[in-house]
Amino acid sequence: SDHMLEYPPSPDDIDWSTHYPMHPGKKVEAADIGCGFGGLLIALAPLMPDTLILGMEIRIQVTQYVHDRIKALRVAATEEPTTTNDVDTDMETGTLQIAGTPGGFQNISVIRGNAMKFLPNFFHKHQLHTLFFLFPDPHFKVRKHKARIISPTLLAEYTYVLRVGGIVYTVTDVEDLHVWMVKFLDEFPLFERIEEATLRERGQGGVVDAVMNGTEEGKKVERNGGQKYFAAFIRIAGD
Ligand code: SAM
Repeated sequence: SDHMLEYPPSPDDIDWSTHYPMHPGKKVEAADIGCGFGGLLIALAPLMPDTLILGMEIRIQVTQYVHDRIKALRVAATEEPTTTNDVDTDMETGTLQIAGTPGGFQNISVIRGNAMKFLPNFFHKHQLHTLFFLFPDPHFKVRKHKARIISPTLLAEYTYVLRVGGIVYTVTDVEDLHVWMVKFLDEFPLFERIEEATLRERGQGGVVDAVMNGTEEGKKVERNGGQKYFAAFIRIAGD
């Protein structure tokens, strides 16, 4: 629950220099909503070295874990690459090179917050170019559907923080939730579906692969041989 959470009155009240000390004055442009253990942030860091990416997570301990993980990666990235010690094997990042990683993980951070409330307290209007909703909690029961992270009301907030041309990515292993998310995004006047092939043509193949396979939940589904449902939408201009 989030009843103890305090919200910044505005994005300008957050000390972003503690999050991105190497990028003074630069603004977050991508957000991973419900980032969990941070696998996507870490996979994206070298793929989007010019973008500041923020994970938002409601659980305190999980947020702290991601914070510590990024801190360790930043330190490791400054070390000299060696032939044996430059591959991270412990942290489920596959064959990711840590030492000498472009950007040195200085472009990713995490913040604790309930993304279903006050997103505009964290981001200015049209600040973001990418929003990720990866393996969101399914809330199976019908009376719990209002707790789902995609709904017409919340989509209005997401279009406020997302600029025209920005992309929303959703992935889930729950078919019913996939159908639900696609339905509301399709019906929303400010979103238009964009196919995976189009994103790849536009050079976003690495990002598509990361959203499918980079998160802890995505890896779990992969191990269990489960199905993953992908959808992406582009934010279009209103009248
Ligand atoms: N995206 C990660 C992944 O793919 O591994 C985590 C998926 S996990 C099933 C869903 C995450 O969303 C959990 O870590 C949960 O704490 C977080 N979460 C749920 N509701 C949230 C909210 N309103 N705001 C922020 N995070 C939320």
